[in-house]
Amino acid sequence: MRNMAVVEFGKPLAPARLEIPRPGPGEVLVRVLACGVCRSDLKIAGGLMPFSANQRLPHVPGHEISGEVAEAGAGVELARGQRVVVHNYWGCGSCPYCVEGQENLCDALRGWVGFTTPGGFEEYLVVPADHLLPVPPQVDPLHAATVSCALGTAYHAVVIRGAVRAGETVTVVGSGGVGLYALQVARAAGARTVAVDLREEALQAARGVGADAAALPEKAPSVVSDLTRGRGADVVVDCVGSRAGFPTALELVRKGGRVVQVGYVTDPQQYPALATDRVVLREVQVVGSRYVTRPELARALHLVASGALRPVISRVVDLEQANEALEDVRADRAVGRVVIRVARDL
Ligand SMILES: [Zn+2]
Ligand SMILES: [Zn+2]
Repeated sequence: MRNMAVVEFGKPLAPARLEIPRPGPGEVLVRVLACGVCRSDLKIAGGLMPFSANQRLPHVPGHEISGEVAEAGAGVELARGQRVVVHNYWGCGSCPYCVEGQENLCDALRGWVGFTTPGGFEEYLVVPADHLLPVPPQVDPLHAATVSCALGTAYHAVVIRGAVRAGETVTVVGSGGVGLYALQVARAAGARTVAVDLREEALQAARGVGADAAALPEKAPSVVSDLTRGRGADVVVDCVGSRAGFPTALELVRKGGRVVQVGYVTDPQQYPALATDRVVLREVQVVGSRYVTRPELARALHLVASGALRPVISRVVDLEQANEALEDVRADRAVGRVVIRVARDL
């Protein structure tokens, strides 16, 4: 089957010889229609993830999958052609985290799509039936390819970890694929929103999805201050996670507020320094936020289906142009998600 795979870390993706897999009991063969591209894909292709040393190559990346049921395995009642998105973190279902509803922290993963197990830069993929979420017919399959990671991650960060309430002010640092959704989810939750980004075109996109204000990092403190009568933002979602992003987040949050860390770097040289005086004396909570659980992702999908959220896609490329998509993300040229059209008939 057609695919684009990591054949050597740090080198462009290339096709590998791969057979179409067969679904076992409880599994589904998914025909991939489209797959979003995420900054994590750069870390995976570069061999820069904590698990990279143990990764077997070739490896097919892509964890933001929109597809349709091609074949249901024994015991699965899903109709052929049903549109789906793939929840990409397959928990064991029985460890203490899974039992307590924190499957995004599972201790004994069965699979991690596109990260440690095969992903969506290929035509067919076998997925456990219970990690497929049905996509309402009114949602475009290309839009659905921004849901599983970008929207899911934003939803979990804003609603669960940020616990955003109506009337609060939420500042989002980094208006990329996740950030543009975080702004919209916060708005849907009843918050006022401020976007911060280094790129003028990203700020434009943030205004386009309804941000109440959008500012370059150097202007952000005064913009947030004006909007909150000098208090600062109740919640800051940092989608960057580098030396540049985190200090900005800490500067913009109010006393007693929350910084939700969504973006992350894997290079210790890039770790931000923690201003402990600000955290302690202003009682700021700093919380990490990782991906999303299935019930949350289902609620996020409702928001797309109802029209409350607008996916922002910067570019659509064919599977064979996957390297161009990665370059767009690497060079920060993408405003919103770059999506790979995997199915030729889409
Ligand atoms: Zn991702
Ligand atoms: Zn588990």
